[in-house]
Amino acid sequence: MNKNYTSTRNKQIQLSAKEAIKKGFADDGGLFVYPEITQLKVNLNSMKEMNYQQIAQVILEKLLPDFSTVEIQESISNAYDKSFDTTKITPLVKVDNFNVLELFHGPTSAFKDIGLQILPQLMKRVLKKDNQVMILTATSGDTGKAALEGFKNLDQTAITVFYPHNGVSKVQQLQMETTDGDNTEITAIKGNFDDAQSNVKKIFNDQSFKKKLGSNISLSSANSINIGRLIPQVVYYFDAYFQLVHDGQIKIGEKVNFTVPTGNFGDVLAGFYAKQMGLPVNKFIVASNANNVLTKFFNTGIYNRNIPFLQTDAPSMDIQISSNFERLLYYKSHEDTEYVAKLMSELEQTGSYQVSESILNSIHDDFYCGFSTDQEIEETITQVYQKNGYVMDPHTAVGYKVMRDYQQSDPDTPMILLSTASPYKFVHVVAKALLGREFDNDHVAMQHLQQFTKLPVPTNLAQVWDLPVLHQDVISQDQMENYVLEKVEDNFNDKN
Ligand SMILES: *Cc1c(COP(=O)(O)O)cnc(C)c1O
Repeated sequence: MNKNYTSTRNKQIQLSAKEAIKKGFADDGGLFVYPEITQLKVNLNSMKEMNYQQIAQVILEKLLPDFSTVEIQESISNAYDKSFDTTKITPLVKVDNFNVLELFHGPTSAFKDIGLQILPQLMKRVLKKDNQVMILTATSGDTGKAALEGFKNLDQTAITVFYPHNGVSKVQQLQMETTDGDNTEITAIKGNFDDAQSNVKKIFNDQSFKKKLGSNISLSSANSINIGRLIPQVVYYFDAYFQLVHDGQIKIGEKVNFTVPTGNFGDVLAGFYAKQMGLPVNKFIVASNANNVLTKFFNTGIYNRNIPFLQTDAPSMDIQISSNFERLLYYKSHEDTEYVAKLMSELEQTGSYQVSESILNSIHDDFYCGFSTDQEIEETITQVYQKNGYVMDPHTAVGYKVMRDYQQSDPDTPMILLSTASPYKFVHVVAKALLGREFDNDHVAMQHLQQFTKLPVPTNLAQVWDLPVLHQDVISQDQMENYVLEKVEDNFNDKN
């Protein structure tokens, strides 16, 4: 077995990619990481003419070495051949003097689909015959539906999604509430996304809870803490680069910048992986909404989440603890797992930690960070539409503003702005910015926005209004453990 993976908090832990995907995250609370990632360099010239699926094959074979070529091929094909509304999977669109990488062409119209269409396929190829897995997912809105669609009716698995009560958009909530499938469980919790995520982590780390499940039933995660979701996201950074080459904007070897709307730091970390594997990137521009913990960190070296949690117009990024930042600290500390464990225990106990100056400098080498307020989001959506006729969702608009700030000091490097959701998913905000009025009803807003912009509504979002609501639970945070136990009973024990 290739024991390639370890924990960010303990390098004694060694396990294969398959084991890491099955477990989701480490018993010590750490995240699984591939230590020697700079050893996995790819040959750019040989990949130039490949399509998305072929690029995915190259990347996944490197990062998931204990999967066979056929296992990876089948997973890629099941994930991407039919469920996206474009054969390009992630098309690059030139807008003004930058390029938008549209990551929202999957079945739930959010970039989460790219990881969550394939994670279940990989999971299926990891499970032994008598294994059963309950997937636990905390969502700020988009992961939930994308994970539900990925795992729906997949043998030997069930999925439980927790989302913040009154903390997601109407469309997001309806998308989840109307999910069918006989292994899907969804509940709102009284709390915000960080509460949902912390409680899910607590359940994962509760060894006595795991014993209650029995030996063949385990828990895993569909959040970007799971490498099986994170690693497939490395692919579109390469694919976008080659699209720029084909468009004649760059030659192979020339550097580009990527701007990434950021919450849990999974998306941009996948970009960092791509850079470690040889993709020519100058900077990653990390863009947060008004929950600007990361911007403050970049300015001071102090990560401090002891500030009020804000609900913003870009709700999928309403996050104060960017889980995947722990992975970056692991690489930037030269894989010093004791150091990372110490920082993370400080974060748990006091809500903050400070990194050394050398680590902060090294982070600045690869990343720039800024944030946008709700007002700036709205202004951006209006201005970009008026100037370029391009309709941006609020998360993408967060990125746009920070990208323009950054470009003042680096105007010439070709820029790719990642667009993480269809504007129709956050139709309330987009309609307000473009039509200048607020709608009480998001369905009506969607119709008006389509008439105005002529941009087609993705089929899944057009249909969601007519589907029956099947899930309406609301629970308190201290009920989450019992909820999971109950759902494990319902899904696995009863059916046996
Ligand atoms: C999840 C999400 C993000 C943030 O991605 P991370 O990987 O958590 O940083 C940004 N935009 C949208 C629309 C999302 O759903």
